[in-house]
Amino acid sequence: MDQLRETLKVHQLRTTTCREDVLSTFINKKNALSHGDLEGALGENYDRVTIYRTLKTFLEKGIIHKVLDDEGLRYALCSHSCSEEKHQHDHIHFKCNICGKTNCLENQLIPEIALPQGYKPENFNLLIQGTCPSCNN
Ligand SMILES: [Zn+2]
Ligand SMILES: [Zn+2]
Ligand SMILES: [Zn+2]
Repeated sequence: MDQLRETLKVHQLRTTTCREDVLSTFINKKNALSHGDLEGALGENYDRVTIYRTLKTFLEKGIIHKVLDDEGLRYALCSHSCSEEKHQHDHIHFKCNICGKTNCLENQLIPEIALPQGYKPENFNLLIQGTCPSCNN
């Protein structure tokens, strides 16, 4: 079974062509994608609402997670361990200033941050900007 169908099956999602196309765009591009990026890639086949709903379902199911970069909200594939119940991210995101791609650094965790009293953290976002390995050559 390929990655695409397997992912939908593991998360108990019915296969629709839009789900397949959105997921395969994430799998093929590898970097984080905004709603606009997906519309650019798939916009001729689906309207924005259908793409938006698909992203929302994927978010809830633990297939993709939110990535905040300096241009706004993007989404990236979760590692295989995410599910509807356990869907937490504390890894660093890296945005390349040359190619403009934002990627998950799955193994680099956000260091512990001491917050002032009374602040309860729920979500962590850390973006590092610089140059990626393919632009560094
Ligand atoms: Zn996740
Ligand atoms: Zn780059
Ligand atoms: Zn990520």
